[in-house]
Amino acid sequence: MIYQGVLNRYGSLLDLPAHTTPVTLLEGNTPLIPMPRLAEELGGGFELYVKYEGLNPTGSFKDRGMTAAISEAAGRGAKAVICASTGNTAASAAAYATRAGMRCVVIIPRGKVAAGKLAGAIAYGARVIQIDGSFDDALNLVVEVSNKHPIALVNSLNPYRLEGQKSGAFEICDVLGSAPDWFCLPVGNAGNITSYWMGFRQYNALKQSGLPQILGVQAEGSAPLVLGHPVDHPETVATAIRIGRPARGEQALEAAEQSNGRIIAVSDEAILAMQKRLAANGVWVEPASAAGLAGMRHDLEAGKIDLKGKRVVVVCTGHGMKDPDIVAKQMEAPTVLPARLADIEEAVVGAK
Ligand SMILES: *Cc1c(COP(=O)(O)O)cnc(C)c1O
Repeated sequence: MIYQGVLNRYGSLLDLPAHTTPVTLLEGNTPLIPMPRLAEELGGGFELYVKYEGLNPTGSFKDRGMTAAISEAAGRGAKAVICASTGNTAASAAAYATRAGMRCVVIIPRGKVAAGKLAGAIAYGARVIQIDGSFDDALNLVVEVSNKHPIALVNSLNPYRLEGQKSGAFEICDVLGSAPDWFCLPVGNAGNITSYWMGFRQYNALKQSGLPQILGVQAEGSAPLVLGHPVDHPETVATAIRIGRPARGEQALEAAEQSNGRIIAVSDEAILAMQKRLAANGVWVEPASAAGLAGMRHDLEAGKIDLKGKRVVVVCTGHGMKDPDIVAKQMEAPTVLPARLADIEEAVVGAK
């Protein structure tokens, strides 16, 4: 069977209006990569898989929801879409909108969007507006604009985004034959954790695939769901989860509670350390994408989670190429040498 994208593959399980007209870049169908060595490094005794969402067409999981939101908007004749973004939503909305022949406007917090995401939004032809404010300010503004004008809102307040994103849960169950025991992911605006929980529950009702316990992970400087109140000035290197007032916060807390899991916070240091560790195992992700696994490691080392004999799936939400500056800042710059064999030999195999 030729793969034709999320709506073609799972459309019958997604609650989308009849007028929905598929706009796809063949998103989804991302690899579930076994990570046996990394599991050993973390203490061993369990099965670990990374759902590598960075391999979607615009480099993040946002494409799963965006194909649904843009397909719905296109089907009812919308001419323009708008979103607030920490970066990946912007790139995804821009790509799917232009594919559908629609205008796309994105509003982002100035100076807080990773280079690869901003470049993507511009390359796909979106009108990019930076504001002197946070993601949360940007979200308030786009909600007002979309209420006053005929421009479709494609943030995860849009219910079709969540419908499309359920496909991640379906894929995991289809590949493993059942839901994992634990399921870990980063939490920002909390749309993804909400839709995964919707997806796992729907598949369980349909196919008795079981339900995972969910570990949602925020960054310490941006952890409203852990603190129990909004954060006015969220800060973290993991810019994709730099959100102080998650739009789906209530549903995220419900997902954690109903699944017998929890939402925790980890430090930026722990996130960056896990980003390096994942890369050392061949999977390079942007910082936010390492948060889920950093959280799992935190709870393992604190003795708060027992994974013996368990199957764990961690979602790595976006590709490392989205945020090249982090690598430039964190890691060693390449050596510069004259183009002479002697110098190269000395550098490669040591002094003669
Ligand atoms: C959007 C995003 C998140 C956060 O997802 P939410 O649905 O907002 O919780 C995490 N990681 C990456 C790479 C993202 O783009």
